Amino acid sequence: MRRFRNSLLVGAILVLVAAVGAGAQNREPQTSGLDITGAWYSGGASMEGGANTELVDYSGLPLSEAGRLYALAWDPSRWTSRQQQCMAYEPTRLLHGGGNFRFWEERDPTTQKLIAIKFYGQITEGTRTVWMDGRPHPPAYAKHSFLGFSTGKYEGNVLTVYTTHLKRNYIRTNGVAMSDQTTLVEHFIRHGDRITYITVLTDPVYLTEPLIRNSDMRRSARNPEAWLYACDDGEQILGRPDDQVPNYLFGQNPYLREHADKYHIPLLGALGGPETLYPDYKEKLASATDADAIARIRPLPNAPAIASRAVDPDPHDGEIHVWPVQGNVYMLIGDGGNIAVQIGEEGALVVDTGTGKLAAKTVAAIKKLVGDKPIQYIVNTSFRPEHTGGNVMVHEAGSDPSLVGSFFSAGAQSFSDAGVGATIIAHNNVLNRMSAPTGQVAPTPSAGWPSDTYLQGRRRKYYNDEGVEILWQPNAVTDGDSIVHFRRSDVIVTGDLFTTTQYPFIDIKNGGSLQGLIAALNRILDRTIYKHQGEGGTLIIPGHGRVCDEFEVAEYRDMLVIIRDRVQALIIKQGATLEQVQAARVTADFDGRFGATSGAWTTNMFLEAVYTSLKEPTKSGSAKSSMKTR
Ligand SMILES: [Zn+2]
Repeated sequence: MRRFRNSLLVGAILVLVAAVGAGAQNREPQTSGLDITGAWYSGGASMEGGANTELVDYSGLPLSEAGRLYALAWDPSRWTSRQQQCMAYEPTRLLHGGGNFRFWEERDPTTQKLIAIKFYGQITEGTRTVWMDGRPHPPAYAKHSFLGFSTGKYEGNVLTVYTTHLKRNYIRTNGVAMSDQTTLVEHFIRHGDRITYITVLTDPVYLTEPLIRNSDMRRSARNPEAWLYACDDGEQILGRPDDQVPNYLFGQNPYLREHADKYHIPLLGALGGPETLYPDYKEKLASATDADAIARIRPLPNAPAIASRAVDPDPHDGEIHVWPVQGNVYMLIGDGGNIAVQIGEEGALVVDTGTGKLAAKTVAAIKKLVGDKPIQYIVNTSFRPEHTGGNVMVHEAGSDPSLVGSFFSAGAQSFSDAGVGATIIAHNNVLNRMSAPTGQVAPTPSAGWPSDTYLQGRRRKYYNDEGVEILWQPNAVTDGDSIVHFRRSDVIVTGDLFTTTQYPFIDIKNGGSLQGLIAALNRILDRTIYKHQGEGGTLIIPGHGRVCDEFEVAEYRDMLVIIRDRVQALIIKQGATLEQVQAARVTADFDGRFGATSGAWTTNMFLEAVYTSLKEPTKSGSAKSSMKTR
């Protein structure tokens, strides 16, 4: 594959493409469009797609500091993680990577209008849809996938495709990553039996400028035999504990010089960066010293803190947005913490209630989903105010018919209000945090307190023809966290144990700990199953952010383990203070995605929680987290 390293050259090619398109239109006054259906083959074996990539070869890639540090910390053994063994390629790696492809059109049978172009790739059995019917891209809180959401249009004789909603993936198979904020523009240009394929990959987190690549596809006369990718994950490393994730500490990548030495390339050039795309870089390299390169294998000291560049999935428009997740479960987003609603014949079971600022709209949205059936249950994943703030209004809008006429409402020890309002279920520590001993002022109104609490293990409900498990996760974000697993719909609601918007809010003074959180994320991963290519299957509703599946939970777990290892090393080897840990920029490769420099939960506050968890495990909840939960 040829790679353009010069933006002038790319500009010239695009002008040429436009000229060809205009010429074709002059000769054939037809509606725009081209036929790319059929079987195609790409030679592939490119650096980006093939298995022949070498470690620490980042030259020609416009890596940001975060992108370079991510790749240097990447241990190839990350592939042995169960959640990565079968992960699919992103679209450009699939198509530049080589192999056989089948493209076809989906047309409306009545009007013959083009609805979509379908792409099927031999590698990882990638099936991709490019919508051609003008539909909009989904909202930012919709699920991402390895192949993303694509729409296309014809520009003369060029098919241009725009893709969003991608998952974190690899640009090069040596740990060079693209973030889940990546967007793609692709151009398909057909000349007879060839397609020129040009891609522009933009990632605000790991790249400083767009990565532009091209390759050719040839029309294939024969159909290949092997189209399927039967990949199930297996036990590749026996005995490795769940809380271990292969990674190299900053500055300790053992293969740092292997590629550079083999080809007699200055290490500085092998470390990539936008300057390595341009021809004049050759002259700069002539005077480069080894110290220049070594300065780049660790976070730059005293660099300004970086805040997340990710799109905020919350529309912040004062409305509650309802998104169907899977089976009987919906996600409501817009009032702080995410809300999950399971509906069915009996009524509604609601997980968390938001901040309460939009509680009237939340109630209206739930009632629209459940119709004339009652809002019967509320489950709280923690006491956090952005998850329990709407308890009072949602409770008062509901009722629990299972209690009316039971010994709870009619008997010697009955409650006068039994069944009035939805029953609120939570771990008992949620009640402890929301209420106060008699005689003291409680932090929240009593109408919103859980009335049905459990102390350990799990609380079970069979509701709307579905098993619902509420599982305590000790000393994770707080001491009263629960996850909720809807077993038939196969959706897990995680509360603040997992978010897509920030580093985890580990609330040390209310019993949270990093160790407990990592254990909780592993318990979530013990319950998930993917459908195909490491995605789909069990879906995840996070405390904040978009709908996910196990891949993103595993990524979050991996990130926390890697940060833990770095902080631990600083404490053990250098006796580092909190201030020294915060100054060491141990999160430099993740801040562009999850960091915050202001607001309620900054990177420094997260690092303080990590530090306290590791330094003073008894002060945080981690020493108490040995209680069995499964
Ligand atoms: Zn939250």
